[in-house]
Amino acid sequence: MFSRSAPGAPPRRPSRLRLALTAGAATVLTAGVALTALAAPSAAAADCSGGYVGLTYDDGPIAGNTTNLLNALRSANARATFFNIGQRAQQNAALVRAERDAGMWIGNHSWTHPHLTQLSASQINSELSQTQQAIQQAVGTAPRLFRPPYGETNATVKSVEQQLGLTEIIWDVDSQDWNGASTAQIVAAANNLRSGGVILMHDGYQTTVNAVPQIVANLAARNLCPGMISPSTGRAVAPDGGNPPPTTAPPTTAPPPTTPPPTTAPPTTPPPGGGTGCSASVSVNQWTGGFTASIRVTAGSASIGGWTVTVTLPSGAGVANAWNANASGNSGTVRFTNVNYNGSLGAGQSTEFGFQGTGTAGTLNPTCTAS
Ligand SMILES: [Zn+2]
Repeated sequence: MFSRSAPGAPPRRPSRLRLALTAGAATVLTAGVALTALAAPSAAAADCSGGYVGLTYDDGPIAGNTTNLLNALRSANARATFFNIGQRAQQNAALVRAERDAGMWIGNHSWTHPHLTQLSASQINSELSQTQQAIQQAVGTAPRLFRPPYGETNATVKSVEQQLGLTEIIWDVDSQDWNGASTAQIVAAANNLRSGGVILMHDGYQTTVNAVPQIVANLAARNLCPGMISPSTGRAVAPDGGNPPPTTAPPTTAPPPTTPPPTTAPPTTPPPGGGTGCSASVSVNQWTGGFTASIRVTAGSASIGGWTVTVTLPSGAGVANAWNANASGNSGTVRFTNVNYNGSLGAGQSTEFGFQGTGTAGTLNPTCTAS
């Protein structure tokens, strides 16, 4: 396709122009290299105006890999959450300390990585509490976060988590590193992260280690920063640098000092068809056995003081936990009502809430009613 001189071009050009053309060609040839170099991470001052995401690494610590992963993260000025397997933490306590010393957060990923939903409450308790103890012994602090192996959870698992003061963390994005994803595919998966979101990766794959610099560079290009996962909300937030973690402040303005008078109590029936004051759209991240749903609520042409979103879950699916909304029910038709800081929306304004689900999400068909 490239021709150095167009057909019919004059045989001689001013030498100055020929030099310019030659230089131009050289620039084109090196441009690919230059672009590649530009895409590599540069340690610019972090602009976190886009928010925070949670990088998570499961199944370690592993001699021969954890150190490499920590080095890659430190080189990228990135902090992450390591969900350690208890047995491995006990056998490699020095690596758990290395994780802590590198500024990483440490979570519980069970003692032997079983399918917890097939175990009794006492067996689950043993899996989680032994791991709490092993990590406590290694670094002096017991985890606040727990990731169930395979993302599998149920009411019994949740009740044990609650007894141990653990917050269950699943994920929003699955890197598929466990499934043979290439480094480029892992990097591409991380591009799906949004503020507050969490990505599943693993301590144990060279592809995953190699993905670190480009993941962090791509996040930086979107003004996103690696953050900690809040034990109170389960969402990624700014690192706090110490214990205890901060309570997440409502992102919007403080509520009025007094309860507002009941406005326009409608004596009539609500509008048919699920309301006209707001709309809801959903995006679902499905994996085997579970999913995360993010639902955006948008006010219509008038401001609203609150909202309720109704979703319909298919048979076998359930709501595990919700954020930025209160759930009523956990299967079949489930209603989500705003929490105190995200109910008021101006005309056309929107807010987002979400929930972790078990089973298969289906279309959910969210409908919104303003209140
Ligand atoms: Zn795992």
